[in-house]
Amino acid sequence: MVYSDRVRDLYQGQLGGIREAGLFKQERFIRSPQGADINVEFPSGAEVKPVINVCANNYLGLSNHPEIVQAAHDGLAKRGYGMSSVRFICGTQDIHRELEEVVTEFLGTEDTILFPSCMDANAGVFESLLTKDDIMISDRLVHASIVDGMRLCSAEHDTFKHGDMGHLEKKLQQFQDKRLRVIINDGVYSMDGDTAKLDEIVKLAEAYDALVFVDESHASGFIGATGRGTHEKCGVMGKMDIITTTFGKALGGASGGCVSGRREIVEMCRQRARPYLFSNAMAPVIIAGVLKAFEILKRGTELRDKLEDNARYWRKGLTEAGFVIKKGDSPIVPVMLFNAKLAQDVSRDLYAEGVYAIGFFFPVVGKGQARIRTQLSAMHDRHHLDRALDAFIKVGKKYECLGKTEEEIVARYGL
Ligand SMILES: *Cc1c(COP(=O)(O)O)cnc(C)c1O
Repeated sequence: MVYSDRVRDLYQGQLGGIREAGLFKQERFIRSPQGADINVEFPSGAEVKPVINVCANNYLGLSNHPEIVQAAHDGLAKRGYGMSSVRFICGTQDIHRELEEVVTEFLGTEDTILFPSCMDANAGVFESLLTKDDIMISDRLVHASIVDGMRLCSAEHDTFKHGDMGHLEKKLQQFQDKRLRVIINDGVYSMDGDTAKLDEIVKLAEAYDALVFVDESHASGFIGATGRGTHEKCGVMGKMDIITTTFGKALGGASGGCVSGRREIVEMCRQRARPYLFSNAMAPVIIAGVLKAFEILKRGTELRDKLEDNARYWRKGLTEAGFVIKKGDSPIVPVMLFNAKLAQDVSRDLYAEGVYAIGFFFPVVGKGQARIRTQLSAMHDRHHLDRALDAFIKVGKKYECLGKTEEEIVARYGL
């Protein structure tokens, strides 16, 4: 061990730099299950305080759903706690395969393979399928886990401007000599809350002989008329070649992810994907919970309908109050503040007013693009949203951000 003063100083210096730039992330301790109302200890050692949560990925409110909690208990009793194995050695129970079949049916694909997380799905999928003779063409705002997955793959990589179909078409033309072309998108973009134009993307894929990849982590369970995702919303179910998604957001919020799509593609992942081959199988207790989540979704669209209603109400409220918000119709509603320190200050003051909403800034979003990303949940009732809106308006007034344009906010606070 040579953790010398020199090495310690090196890291202390770097951490100091992060603090000075106002970019230090301080975790808050939640002392209750996840939900619309949570009890939080912040800062550490402070009195525990009830607050309204408007920044969870708990879109359908299933994270602490009593039926899912019960199903997890039952799963634990019936199939035990852990697998102590990866899938291909002795880590596959009947319920692992059952969940794969349920996901396949839900997403309207041919087959599905589970991963410990969607991060792992994205880390494994590209290198399982592509070689240096292929090209990955990704939207510039795809999720960090996709960026990492592409880094692990020997195929060539290029990007198109976010949502710019003309630019994507140029790239497809440019790479016609490649063995395979893959167009890579998020379904719903997690930081901006806007949606990939999958209908137009499918047309381009057909015209230029390309595969379509979409990460549905912020869509599965609630986007589209029956919550199947962005492909349902865009009218292109059955046309996605590769879907990745997570069970760690709307679908119970615990953990796990998958690759779903064409049969051979899924089989290639089973043979080749390193996070599948070399990381433990999903725990039975979580599989049991996710299966229950899908059962709840099958009963009807009540939860996603309420979520949609909440999102509409919240967007309208923030817009009328005079905040700059990103346009869209998803339950991700970013309140733009541009300056990182301002986003931190607003978040802290919101907390004092009983609202838990976190500031996002570089490197999570671009420099000068700091924001409070609010996210709606089917757990929110009108009284939650009204109270949270009151808090936003009070804090917005204090920092004089209401009724201001981007230019005016930037002129005052800088980038
Ligand atoms: C959250 C997220 C992931 C990671 O999902 P995990 O299952 O938590 O690893 C991957 N892709 C996107 C687009 C996400 O939003």
